[in-house]
Amino acid sequence: MLTNDELAKWDRESFFHPSTNLGQFARGEGPQRIIQGGDGVFITDRDGNRLLDGFAGLYCVNVGYGRPEIAEAIADQAQELAYYHAYAGHGSEANITLAKMVMDRAPKGMARVYFGLGGSDANETNIKLVWYYNNILGRPEKKKIISRWRGYHGSGLMTGSLTGLELFHKKFDLPLSQVIHTEAPYYYRRPDPAMSEADFTAHCVARLEALIAAEGADTIAAFIGEPVLGTGGIVPPPAGYWPAIQAVLDRHDILMIADEVVTGFGRLGAMFGSDPYGIRPDLITCAKGLTSAYAPLSASIVGQRVWDGLMRGTDENGVFGHGWTYSAHPIGAAAGIANLKLIDDLGLVKNAAEVGAYLNRAMQDAVGDHPNVGEVRGAGMLCAVELVADRDSRRFFDAAEGRGAKVVAAMLGRGVIARAMPQGDIIGLAPPLCLTRAEADQIVAATRDAIAEVLG
Ligand code: PLP
Repeated sequence: MLTNDELAKWDRESFFHPSTNLGQFARGEGPQRIIQGGDGVFITDRDGNRLLDGFAGLYCVNVGYGRPEIAEAIADQAQELAYYHAYAGHGSEANITLAKMVMDRAPKGMARVYFGLGGSDANETNIKLVWYYNNILGRPEKKKIISRWRGYHGSGLMTGSLTGLELFHKKFDLPLSQVIHTEAPYYYRRPDPAMSEADFTAHCVARLEALIAAEGADTIAAFIGEPVLGTGGIVPPPAGYWPAIQAVLDRHDILMIADEVVTGFGRLGAMFGSDPYGIRPDLITCAKGLTSAYAPLSASIVGQRVWDGLMRGTDENGVFGHGWTYSAHPIGAAAGIANLKLIDDLGLVKNAAEVGAYLNRAMQDAVGDHPNVGEVRGAGMLCAVELVADRDSRRFFDAAEGRGAKVVAAMLGRGVIARAMPQGDIIGLAPPLCLTRAEADQIVAATRDAIAEVLG
């Protein structure tokens, strides 16, 4: 076996890590951790640390680490048929079965599922479907996509454009011109503290209406949003937000893309977030929780009206010219089947609701009154603690001080992984859905003690 020193050297010299400060990493100034194994909600690194993964990787290892049921399903599939493509009507037992399982769980009104590899490519697919659909309906001008500031939809060219976070635009010549952004449904950061949630929802709706009026509804194809903002700060919407937004979209014949990459398959304590929030999606984007990240796989779930347009399109134009070599990869599909079965067998959707509510309550009790905690918020198995310099004015800390990152580092020192969310001093938690109350207590204690250490 390689020594840790050898691996660390090769890593610094050879590996271009995603979402990393490249210079710092290459010079040995940035953090480096080599992960070796995982079991339940814990991972172990090569230095012998055992850490409670309070972010489930990147909110994706929903069933927890080390599940033999999924590992065996992957191995069996690799033995029987590691790969065959899905072009021109080809399938395998695994990907056909998973398609049926996804459709059985999807919100009503959905017609078919297309499988890709990750959340970014699934959103890319969904935008192409929207454009194709409007071309088939004879409205080639209706192409712009409305996204929200603080939304996260991936980091490709189109999906990085949809993402409404500066880090993903700066120096990349993004966003592309077809994408426009509207107000984030971020009640804590409402423009006027006197606004009620209903007032703020009305404000978001008015901003959306104004944008549509300025651009022209006949130029806007779709609106994309996560039921609960994820990477943008783990922000549940204000009361009444989604039904009010949905009504505007219906009025202007704008399609709704629900990006359920984080929320799909149980994280909010419901199979999908669309139903409880009153979203009526035309397209749903899924990835992460579909396989709990045991293998890369994404799903674009297509609603009936778009599906009818696509069928008409291929009747008129021939083969649908969209596919990847690895679309519907049988190994990913085998992982997906075993994962969805585990979610059912272990009752993980219910556990996400119950233990998630417990985690949020306990976090509120532990740190909610701290003078530098502006808000504790969450939904299902998602929880965030927003740090502020001053509670009354909701004033941010100076970003250069990196208070959020320091608290997360102090949590790591206590054996718990949290995520410093990319815009603002927000501590993000999204543990595996199998979290127990005792493990939730461990997360809360680490958060409380780390805040006390860094902020007093
Ligand atoms: N959409 C949402 C809501 C996400 O949170 C993410 C990733 O975090 C993506 C899309 C992109 O998925 P991927 O990183 O698999 O491309």
